Amino acid sequence: MIIGIEKIAPCDMQVKDLVGWLYERYHNIVITSGFRTPAANEAIKNSSKVSQHCLGLAVDLAAPGHNLIVLAGLAITNFPAIHGVGQDVYKKYVHLDFRVDPYREWVYGKDGKEC
Ligand SMILES: [Zn+2]
Repeated sequence: MIIGIEKIAPCDMQVKDLVGWLYERYHNIVITSGFRTPAANEAIKNSSKVSQHCLGLAVDLAAPGHNLIVLAGLAITNFPAIHGVGQDVYKKYVHLDFRVDPYREWVYGKDGKEC
């Protein structure tokens, strides 16, 4: 069983495939956020008004003891439809999404805002 998979149940199949693929390699991934209702998204400080989480196209996850930059690179290589990558070095998680927009990556600052 993938811990936390129930939290992304309404998500796009691509997200589920990605999480399953990562779990096979990392075993200890922890999903910190998956699908969000608009109300749940608004309750999160500094969240995007057009969050890919609300579309079921995004997942935030941690992998304790692993380098998240390496994890994100592997994910992008194997899932080229990933078009959004956000790194949070403070909270130690990575955001991966399957947006239809062109590829974009960013880093979150200490305040949780993109920088
Ligand atoms: Zn996210």
